[in-house]
Amino acid sequence: MKKVLILTAGFGDGHNTAARNVADAVEMISDEAKVEVLDVFQSSLGLLNDVLKKAYLGLTRFAPGVWSGIYSMLDSSKKLESNLLAFGNLKDALQGIIEQSQPDCVISTYPVYAHVIREIYRDHSERPFRFITVVTDSISVNSSWFRAPSDWYCVPNEATAQVLRRNGVPPEKIRAFGFPVNPVFAEKQDNPAEAPREGGPIKILYIINTGKKKTGKALERLLEMPRAHLTITVGRDAELKEKLASRLEKFGERARLLGWTNQMPRLMLSHHLVVTKAGGATVQEAIAGRCPMILNQVIPGQEDGNAELVRQLDAGAVAEKSRDVVEWVGKAFANDGELWKKWRGNLAKVARPDASIRIAELALNECASDGPPNRLFVTEAPGMTRPARRPSTNGGGEARMLLCDFHIHTNYSDGKLTAPEVVDFYGKRGFDCICITDHLGDPRRLIGKLSKLLKLTLGPEQMDEYFDVLERERRRAWRKYKMLLMTGIEFNKDGFSRKSSAHLLGIDLKAPINPALDLPPTIAEIHAQGGLAVASHPHIMKSEWGKNTLYLWDNQEVFAPLIDAWEIANRNNIFTPVGLKRLAFLANSDFHKPKHIYSWKTLLHSEKDPEAIKECIRKNDHVAITLYRDNLPARALQPASLEVPQLVPLDAAVPLRSLSA
Ligand code: ZN
Ligand code: ZN
Repeated sequence: MKKVLILTAGFGDGHNTAARNVADAVEMISDEAKVEVLDVFQSSLGLLNDVLKKAYLGLTRFAPGVWSGIYSMLDSSKKLESNLLAFGNLKDALQGIIEQSQPDCVISTYPVYAHVIREIYRDHSERPFRFITVVTDSISVNSSWFRAPSDWYCVPNEATAQVLRRNGVPPEKIRAFGFPVNPVFAEKQDNPAEAPREGGPIKILYIINTGKKKTGKALERLLEMPRAHLTITVGRDAELKEKLASRLEKFGERARLLGWTNQMPRLMLSHHLVVTKAGGATVQEAIAGRCPMILNQVIPGQEDGNAELVRQLDAGAVAEKSRDVVEWVGKAFANDGELWKKWRGNLAKVARPDASIRIAELALNECASDGPPNRLFVTEAPGMTRPARRPSTNGGGEARMLLCDFHIHTNYSDGKLTAPEVVDFYGKRGFDCICITDHLGDPRRLIGKLSKLLKLTLGPEQMDEYFDVLERERRRAWRKYKMLLMTGIEFNKDGFSRKSSAHLLGIDLKAPINPALDLPPTIAEIHAQGGLAVASHPHIMKSEWGKNTLYLWDNQEVFAPLIDAWEIANRNNIFTPVGLKRLAFLANSDFHKPKHIYSWKTLLHSEKDPEAIKECIRKNDHVAITLYRDNLPARALQPASLEVPQLVPLDAAVPLRSLSA
């Protein structure tokens, strides 16, 4: 096992963000590595840390000038190192941690650690691990980053690399991988938003960092531009969110409010512009997401470098007053978005969305090449078995028959299993692609007796979490089972009768969609995200769920051109008219509990890649349905009892016992 220890410090946002992203990347690319992120300041210098943090939080908000004085003292002079080293417990704490955890590789995202490590091994022989410094400064580089030795220096750009070389760091030790942003940026299916159409909506991401009094006014000014569509993140300030919600209500869907989110990559990639303060991590994420920026706040002494970076790259603007933000948005999109296109082009040239993955690769390589020799004899503990795995040649590449299920519920709505349990349940059965589609009720329709269903559907406040958890599970599903996991939603548009009721699946969604939209705009939103719109159980069936949902079928002349595929089979029901009408089809479980696995499924002849799979469904070329059976325990809910000795190779056969169950 390769052990990677990542050291960080919670001063400013850049260090922690970098550390967390590199840790995610290590987990993403390796099954065997064990990675740990540690803030030794937090654990050993509780008091000092609190003082610093209070200074940071308090002074930045109320007296930026004072803070900038402290910051420059802290971060620029030798005093920092000597001051902190004077707190001997930092050294003792780190030494204890290293002795206990015996890492193969240590990565530091905060300059002080290199000095502490030098201190620890000053009188001893070689240090027993490889050491990588990840420099998070991107314009002016603090010299404390390179005054202590390191095996590697990963820097955010070529300019920083030059500074290090000029200061005597050997060039072969420097890697300009970029700032380690969230590894999600590196995934190819996430492309940045295309240029807005002439006169079309301009999607603006507005990040509120501090609850400034004038925020409401600034937002209103922006929304007075008829083309502006705002996604506003307010952080954990529920009160502010509520205030803004009522204040911006008059703008309807053009103002979308989110609370705390860790979906920044997704948001950066899907918006044309971000309005934010000049925080280091945010600026770097915007660069990785190729999302031009308008900076509306720059904390002196701390964020000037970030603002300078945006100016140097010519990737956005710094707005002195909140009024200027509107002006800049106007300028950016005048003349068919000439200025915006220039910004975007400049960002595309420098974006390094895979930086954290490159750093993780470097760290894992270091573990492999120079680990202490005694590690070679460490064997796995008895009783540890590896999970059964599909041959790795199935990870994309050539087309073959894929076993898929695109209609699955978890306990986010009325399903019995959690999302991770669903992933293990299907993964162990060798499925190639699944989509989790929890119910999202239309608040306008949840009336009378239907209202009891409310608690069995996703709440609007849970949407972010839902996308988050499924994103995490998507990575795990691929790592562990080479199974693709897509995020979906089943939009329940229930009326009083079957004729007015419809269920619509949105498959492979990137972001929440307003549940109160009518069907055609819902479908348009799904398509705008690159997803598929699928009619679920569109015809008469024997249903456990309640009434039939015939609205889409009855209005085919409207919906057939909009919908990508219709469920020809759902659980045990088959809707032959879907086939007779020659509509594009799919077959799904509508899985709510383990026994529902024994139901109709889709087989697609496709590459194992989300885009290829969706294209295969749209074209409905080489699509087949199959009634799925296996001999695995179906009732088991406990993950432990889902353990199976080995997987039936799918290519051999999908066991079809009977067609009449
Ligand atoms: Zn349904
Ligand atoms: Zn369903």
